[in-house]
Amino acid sequence: MKYKLFDLKITTIGDKGTFNCSHIVGDGFFVCGEQIQFFEYTKQFSHYALATLLPYLAAKQRADDVNDWMYYESLIACPDPQCGALFSIERTERAEYEYGEE
Ligand SMILES: [Zn+2]
Repeated sequence: MKYKLFDLKITTIGDKGTFNCSHIVGDGFFVCGEQIQFFEYTKQFSHYALATLLPYLAAKQRADDVNDWMYYESLIACPDPQCGALFSIERTERAEYEYGEE
């Protein structure tokens, strides 16, 4: 059976002067299928931020109804309420995957 998923690019954005954590503007990662690949220059990434982002990734890979908020909302805030960092989720490509029936 074939199905399609969006590939994603997650990027740290915002005014670093408002960050309460050690985020670096421009750091982030790609999501391709089930794989996460950090940008080559991303040396570290907050696991609290990653934990916040994870539930959205599978949904953002799939939602394709333009009226669904999951389709058009693309900014996720850092879970630290004192931190101004945002994480942008951008769809890059839509890849086709296949799994066999047993
Ligand atoms: Zn933060």
